[in-house]
Amino acid sequence: MSPAPVLRVALPTPLRQLFDYRGTAGRIEPGMRVRVPFGRQRAIGVVMSTAATSDLPEEKLKTVLETLDERPVFDKGLLELLQWAAGYYHHPIGEVLAAALPKALRLGASLAAQEERWWLTPAGRAACTQGEPRRAPRQRELLAALLAGARASHELRAQFGASWRAAARLLGERGWLASALSPCAAPPRAEPPPSPRSAPPLNEEQQAAAERIRASLGRFGAFLLQGVTGSGKTEVYLRVAEQALAQGRGALVLVPEIGLTPQLVGRFRERFAVPMAVLHSGLTDQERLLAWREAYAGGARIVLGTRSAVFAPVANLGVIMVDEEHDASYKQQDGGFRYSARDLAVMRARGAEVPVVLGSATPAIETLHNVAAGRYTRLTLTRRAVQAAPPRLALIDLRAHAHAGGLATPAVQAIERHLGAGGQTLVFLNRRGYAPTLACTACGWVAPCRDCDARLTVHLGAHALRCHHCGAQAPLPQRCPQCGFAVKPVGQGTERLEETLGELFPGVPCVRLDRDVVRRRGDLEAAVRRIASGEGRILVGTQMVTKGHDFPNVTLVVVLNADQGLFSTDFRAPERLAQTIVQVAGRAGRGTRPGEVLIQTEFPDHPLLTGLLSEGYEGFARTALTERRQAGWPPFSRLAAVRDSARTAEAALQFLTEARALAQGTRGVRLLGPVPAAMAKRAGRYHAQLLIESPERGGLHRFLEAWLPQLHGLPGARHVRWALDVDPMELF
Ligand code: ADP
Ligand code: ZN
Ligand code: ZN
Repeated sequence: MSPAPVLRVALPTPLRQLFDYRGTAGRIEPGMRVRVPFGRQRAIGVVMSTAATSDLPEEKLKTVLETLDERPVFDKGLLELLQWAAGYYHHPIGEVLAAALPKALRLGASLAAQEERWWLTPAGRAACTQGEPRRAPRQRELLAALLAGARASHELRAQFGASWRAAARLLGERGWLASALSPCAAPPRAEPPPSPRSAPPLNEEQQAAAERIRASLGRFGAFLLQGVTGSGKTEVYLRVAEQALAQGRGALVLVPEIGLTPQLVGRFRERFAVPMAVLHSGLTDQERLLAWREAYAGGARIVLGTRSAVFAPVANLGVIMVDEEHDASYKQQDGGFRYSARDLAVMRARGAEVPVVLGSATPAIETLHNVAAGRYTRLTLTRRAVQAAPPRLALIDLRAHAHAGGLATPAVQAIERHLGAGGQTLVFLNRRGYAPTLACTACGWVAPCRDCDARLTVHLGAHALRCHHCGAQAPLPQRCPQCGFAVKPVGQGTERLEETLGELFPGVPCVRLDRDVVRRRGDLEAAVRRIASGEGRILVGTQMVTKGHDFPNVTLVVVLNADQGLFSTDFRAPERLAQTIVQVAGRAGRGTRPGEVLIQTEFPDHPLLTGLLSEGYEGFARTALTERRQAGWPPFSRLAAVRDSARTAEAALQFLTEARALAQGTRGVRLLGPVPAAMAKRAGRYHAQLLIESPERGGLHRFLEAWLPQLHGLPGARHVRWALDVDPMELF
């Protein structure tokens, strides 16, 4: 027998290297998890490759403790994708792999269909209630944890650490604990439909789009499926998924954080009789594990999920679809590994040699650039599937009209008119709470957040002042703390807007949709039902209303404050504003009645707004691309940002200044900054940013490769937390 090979293992540490271990007998393949000794602890890592020899001297080469998988958790394609991502985002491979795995698997849960479960025997239950064993607190805690019911061994390991098993063994010897292997619980699944609902015949454009994508099954192709909300994109996804399934392959469907509505899941469930796995951030660790397992075992033929689902296993992957591809939630904005799930979806499709479909009514400027460059094929749906007339857009000049509670007279009249005609109205305001500011009527004091460069928002229902940036909360003062005079809320939030509308239209039921009213699972569905049933006549909402939901009876949309995005320092702000306006507008008139969209602004002559009105999103995108080309912003250059935060503004800038000095004389990249963030102080820490720009990708990556490893050793690094963001979505 040949000696066990050397395993090159990726471990979740910030060290940018692999670690060599001696394997044990038995077959080990790349992509399998192993438990290994690491320093004085144990760690779980993923085998990246095997080798005959190691550079480590034999006596230093430790042996793996345990192999956790019978077959790889990451197949070859995923492993390659993750390796590519580690390089592209310049992030340590071990942390990249860890980010791609559900927490339970990171902690060692089994992927097999059986798991070891532990429970209390009657004697153990009695012992536990008597506080036994008195001398062994660890064992006592373990008993107490099982009082509520049986637990899987990986859950116990997660709660008690590696030493749990020794405690469990001792308790087992006393007859207080029992364990057995049992089949893993199947994920809770909605009742399957009696028979799959049949698809409507596709219209010509849908047909053509589905046909183009079908022709690409079995090889890589990137498609932009562009169509306004309601034009039938989801029907195309369904058809494409059906075609992949018919070939015996699986489909991966990504949706934005906020877009994974029960409506959408329902449409997939009712169309297909095959099991689906749904992955999103609202799942418990256990639910996520179960869904992953379903996908891994090939039981789930369709995997539908938010950002991190791009790493989900899909047996025999046949196609990837990314709905609302422009959505910012596809970019991981915090933590260490800041990836774009949309971009990784394209890479994954390329590696797997399958088509990828990016759908949007308002494609990202980058995506449109990829179409123009011939990298993506555009498929367009120009007509609404159900109703042909697009909504009419008009501006209301806030300077020329009286307004009460944020609503200008023409808007109030329009609401009256639409309600009179039996329609519903949606009023969009991207600001929750009662009012964004509490101010003194005498001395000009405004309630500030102690820990942020921000004002506190008035929440009247909760009788509180809250910071929307750090979560700080304070009681609502009755008088000005500075001069003792009366205070009053200034400006509009959705809570106040609801009140105003109640006064303007007494007796007309109003439904509010924002994060303050939608807190638990089910809240959103309940609110959506009240609107869909026609019970709510006016809908007030934030960003939350712009995606996914179908409100066929909404005939009027009023956008209250379009001006926030017009004058930002972030070059992407206009794009986000245009997307929001078009998406909100898309809520109007999806039924059989034509829609009307009114946008309130103090800048009715702003080229972005006039362009959007006269030429729609296409016109806007053309202008935006020209502006970006002239300014040298992405997609006409490549960007990365190093962001840091520290206890003082000086420390935050100091580290980045040192980092910049290191780059002195480098060619091929331009460094911009460092500058303090627009809101420098957040949650008591000061934030700053250094931008690195290069005309082409290769130059940027060569620079980062040489420069980044040096940053850890800078004197200023000790006083900051910092992270690299390649292709940053939000600049500050
Ligand atoms: P999008 O995803 O672009 O917003 P959907 O696929 O949700 O559009 O379609 C909007 C509405 O039109 C849905 O209610 C859908 O069932 C319906 N629909 C889409 N395509 C067709 C079709 N070819 N025939 C009939 N109804 C359709
Ligand atoms: Zn005062
Ligand atoms: Zn704050």
